[in-house]
Amino acid sequence: MNRPILASIHTAAFQHNLGRVREMAPKSKIWSVIKARAYGHGFEAALKGLASTDGFALLDIEDAAWLREHGWKGRILLLEGFFHENELSRAAEFACDLVVHCDAQVDWLEGFKWKYHQPFNVFLKMNTGMNRLGFKPEAYRTAFHRLHAAGYHMHHMTHFSNADQVDRLPSVASQQELFNKTIVGLEGVTSLANSAAIMWHRNALGDWVRPGIMLYGASPTGLYADIQHANLQAVMQLESEVIDVQELEKGDRIGYGGRFEATGPMRVGIVACGYADGYPRHAKDGTPVWVANNKQGVICPLVGRVSMNMLAIDLRNAPEAGVGTSVQLWGDKVPVDDVAMMSDTIGYELLCAIRHEYLLLLSN
Ligand SMILES: *Cc1c(COP(=O)(O)O)cnc(C)c1O
Repeated sequence: MNRPILASIHTAAFQHNLGRVREMAPKSKIWSVIKARAYGHGFEAALKGLASTDGFALLDIEDAAWLREHGWKGRILLLEGFFHENELSRAAEFACDLVVHCDAQVDWLEGFKWKYHQPFNVFLKMNTGMNRLGFKPEAYRTAFHRLHAAGYHMHHMTHFSNADQVDRLPSVASQQELFNKTIVGLEGVTSLANSAAIMWHRNALGDWVRPGIMLYGASPTGLYADIQHANLQAVMQLESEVIDVQELEKGDRIGYGGRFEATGPMRVGIVACGYADGYPRHAKDGTPVWVANNKQGVICPLVGRVSMNMLAIDLRNAPEAGVGTSVQLWGDKVPVDDVAMMSDTIGYELLCAIRHEYLLLLSN
């Protein structure tokens, strides 16, 4: 690919962020969550940067196969278990741990002849109020006993709806209380906390934490201040270049719909990156873009609607910038959370949408 767009993945930042999780949850083991191709960062980078994790949690058995082929010998957790019975022998072959969240899975597991393999470690998922996946407390104990009787190693899991907000229901405390009450007397370890719980609910961590977004240096709430406070680093840096410069007069407008109108003479830089590349089309005027401006970096605001493969920036802060000048759309100089906030979404969505062919692995 010749267009000057690149998402460089800094594996040292992965190591740093994983180290921060260990400091915040010193008594817990870590499932590093790498669903959605490691939140858009690619499995290769995740395997390299997060090699000292205790396990990887993901969704697709084919991705588990990839990890095994590339030498991962630690634990793997399939976060939604299996989607059909015919995946079970491969899950056993790759020594995956399974989340089990519904009766159909329990039926299939009872019928599965695991005796040719090791029995699975099962993290049985309790629905404590999120109402997405999992068993309600009454059904939970029944499912637990059925799988226990079938010879599986049983553990406990739930997921919080609101670990990043204080005033929403159900609360972390209510979910945690229901979870603890339901597993009384049952053997097995526990897994509860996503990034938000690790950052803000240190009494709700459990034996295995499940950080996702914080490993990538973005915030569960979308506020960059959280990232600074937790001392996390951006892993992905999305970079491109100015490919044209337009000189505007007062009253000139930019791009589709003419959303931005110049109030006086100004230089506008056209950057090779648009919504087809993963930059949000809904980014508002003023969304920050970092521009190299002859080695002295400055922030220049986005102006006008984002196109399929281009966007425009106000170069009044960057008089030295011209064709070929480097820009950073997000990364260490522009928090992805700030771009997301200006686009009415969260960093998760932006990171996941980056095209695989733009990824470049860097070890610093
Ligand atoms: C995605 C996911 C996580 C990680 O969530 P973050 O908010 O990215 O930390 C943890 N647990 C489960 C079950 C998930 O699906």
